[in-house]
Amino acid sequence: MSCQRGNVARTRPQRHQNAQAFRNDRHDASARRKKINAKIHEGLCQHCKEVLEWRVKFNKYKPLTQPKKW
Ligand SMILES: [Zn+2]
Repeated sequence: MSCQRGNVARTRPQRHQNAQAFRNDRHDASARRKKINAKIHEGLCQHCKEVLEWRVKFNKYKPLTQPKKW
């Protein structure tokens, strides 16, 4: 069974590579998108910063109305 738990050894390469890397601004050239992409995350530890940058890149980011405490 290909879906068998733990059976992760692939015998063939990925069939279709993405021709272009994902871009969050391809369908969204709005000022809001530009602002989010340009945002520098300050006052965060390295880990939280990386999380936020990932979220921005893959459109998972929603600006917080209040700074979050962690
Ligand atoms: Zn943190």
